[in-house]
Amino acid sequence: MFSCWGHQMTIVGSPGCYIRSAWFSSVIDEMQKGAGRLTLLDRIEAHTFLTAFPQSLAVPRSPAEELLLSLLLQRFAGETGIALHSRVHESSRKKSCSFVPCVFLQPFWKVRSIKPVAAFNAWTDAFFRRFDEVHPISVATRAAQAVRRRYEHSWDVLTLSKEVRTTASRLVNGFRREYGMSPRDYLRLVRLVMALERVRHDKIEAVALDLGYRSRKNFARAFKRVAGVTVTDFRTLPTEQLERITDAAQMMLSAPQVTARTRMAWSSSATREVAADRRAHRAKR
Ligand SMILES: [Zn+2]
Repeated sequence: MFSCWGHQMTIVGSPGCYIRSAWFSSVIDEMQKGAGRLTLLDRIEAHTFLTAFPQSLAVPRSPAEELLLSLLLQRFAGETGIALHSRVHESSRKKSCSFVPCVFLQPFWKVRSIKPVAAFNAWTDAFFRRFDEVHPISVATRAAQAVRRRYEHSWDVLTLSKEVRTTASRLVNGFRREYGMSPRDYLRLVRLVMALERVRHDKIEAVALDLGYRSRKNFARAFKRVAGVTVTDFRTLPTEQLERITDAAQMMLSAPQVTARTRMAWSSSATREVAADRRAHRAKR
């Protein structure tokens, strides 16, 4: 039987078995933020994020809080595993396989002998070890990450394929399959997304030029397609809305749930715009 005094819920008849409501809401809050963050990350980043994730959670102080944390983390891990696995199949030709994400939840079932955070860490290790064995990280995923990490580097298909130790044609084919665009269009998209923040404070011409756009008009068009609003409108939006737009744009870079059609639309028009930009520039000279 439970009794509740607003800030704390106690299991009557079990001394010390209490759940602080502030602790509970902070854990739920972190998990919701974590789930949101994971939609923006690719699987390499997701692994790093999940390894550090338990440290962001408030520490349980009673057996009841420990039990609740164990159940919540188990559910969080289970849903994350299913989501990461189904994402891999969205971008691969193979539509199903024998990999069962839930098998790795076993550490949580030894409730008495293992702390919730230790169980979560054991799940992260076991899950990714097997996940990476059954679904090796593709060259396109590794190349996309290299581009995002060092987007100011002057990448071309050759340097990028050397970076991920593959051939140029394998890289281009893999990129088309997973990201629906060429590595070059992807680099352009990454730079544009990374420049969203700069647009708020810097001169538009300067940002456009740094991104390789010689005409402000073409930059404005590319910007609108990524942000969904014009540069002028973007600058006047409240912070919350700006964050939503930036998150959605970042999702385009790493999350396969963005449809291939959206990516193709970006890709073909980006190529057209840059070509138009070059033509206009040549005509002026
Ligand atoms: Zn699979």
